[in-house]
Amino acid sequence: MDRRKFVAATGLAGATGLLSACGNRNGPQVECGNQTTSETFKWKMVTSWPRDFPGLGTGANRLAESINQLSNGRLQIKVYGGNELVPAFEVFDAVKQRTAEMGHSATYYWKGKAPAAQFFAGIPFGMSAQELHGWIYYGGGLELWREVYAPHGIVPFLAGSSGPQMGGWFNREINSVADLKGLKMRIPGLGGEILRRAGGTPTNIPGAELFTALQTGTIDATEWVGPYNDLAFGLFRAAKYYYYPGWHEPGTGLECIINQQAWNTLPEDLQAIVRVACQAAVTDTLSDFTYNNGVALKKLLDEHAVDLRRFPDEVLNHLGEISDNLVREMASEDDLMGRIYASFQAYSDIVRPWSAISDRTLLNLRADPLIR
Ligand code: CA
Repeated sequence: MDRRKFVAATGLAGATGLLSACGNRNGPQVECGNQTTSETFKWKMVTSWPRDFPGLGTGANRLAESINQLSNGRLQIKVYGGNELVPAFEVFDAVKQRTAEMGHSATYYWKGKAPAAQFFAGIPFGMSAQELHGWIYYGGGLELWREVYAPHGIVPFLAGSSGPQMGGWFNREINSVADLKGLKMRIPGLGGEILRRAGGTPTNIPGAELFTALQTGTIDATEWVGPYNDLAFGLFRAAKYYYYPGWHEPGTGLECIINQQAWNTLPEDLQAIVRVACQAAVTDTLSDFTYNNGVALKKLLDEHAVDLRRFPDEVLNHLGEISDNLVREMASEDDLMGRIYASFQAYSDIVRPWSAISDRTLLNLRADPLIR
C-alpha cells in the first residue's frame, strides 16, 4: 500500500471511530483530546470527454490528481470518460442526481437545461480566455453562475480553458454568406443557433463520433476544439479545409460542477482545496492548449498539408450581427439572463479598451507567416 492510500485508509477508520465521540462533521479537522483526524471522501467525476483525451480528458485527470494530492488522499476522485458511467451529455444530470458527485464539462452543453449557463463558457464574438477569467473571478460572473445552477443543486467552478478554438473542418468552401445555406455542421450551443439563423443546419454530436460523421457525409462540417484536439481525432483525413477563426468560441471556459449536497459534506479545508485546484487547472489547461495547439498546427501544415482558410470578413460580420441580436434576445427572456447580459456587457465595456491597446496592439505588431 502506498503512503497516500495508507493515510486515506487510516483517516477513514479514525474518523469513523471518532465522529460518534466528537459529533463534528463540518470543521476542517476533528479534534478530540490529543488526537486529530479527518474523514476520507471517495467521489466520482464524470466528464464529457473521451478518456484521457488531450487537454480536456487529461486536464480533468490532472485536476482530480491535484485534489487527491493536496488533500493527502482525504478527497479521492475517480475520473470517468464520457459514456463510461453516463453519456457525455448527461454529466449535468448525473451531478444533479448525485450519480456522480463531480463533473467536468462545458456550460454550453446545458443549453436545454439552463440556457443562461452558456455565457460562462463564453459567447460567440465575446471575450478572450483572459477576459472571460477576469469576468468570472473579479467581474461578478461566478456569483451569477452560482445563481443559475443553484435551482439544480449544483455548485460550479471555472476549471479549465481551451483558449480560442478553430472555425472547424469543412468539406465545402465558405466564400460568402450564401455558402452557409444548407450547411450541415456539428456546432453546439449559441454558435449552432447562429448558424441556424444564417440558414445552416446545426447538430451536436459527441466528439468521439465526429470523424465518422464527417467522413460519411452525415455532416458537411464540424467544429471541435483546435489543432491539438483536432489532430488527435485525425479530422484532417475527413475534411478538405480547416477554417479560422473560431468566432463561436473565442476563449472557452471549462467547468467543474459539484453536487450541492456532496459539497456541503466537505470540511472547509477540502472545499478550499477543490476551489484552488480548480483555479490552478485554469492556468494548467490554458498553458497545455497554448503550447500544444502550436505544435499541432505545425504538424497539420507541415506533415499533413492541411488547407488552412480564413473565413471571409463578409461571413464573420454577418455571423457577428446575428450573434448580437441573439444574445440581446436571450437577455430579454428572463430577469436572470438579463442581469447576466448586463454584467457581461458592463465588464466588456470596461475591459475591451484595455485589451485593444494592450494585447491587440502587440499581436498586430507581429508579422505572422501563416495568415492568408
Ligand atoms: Ca468547440
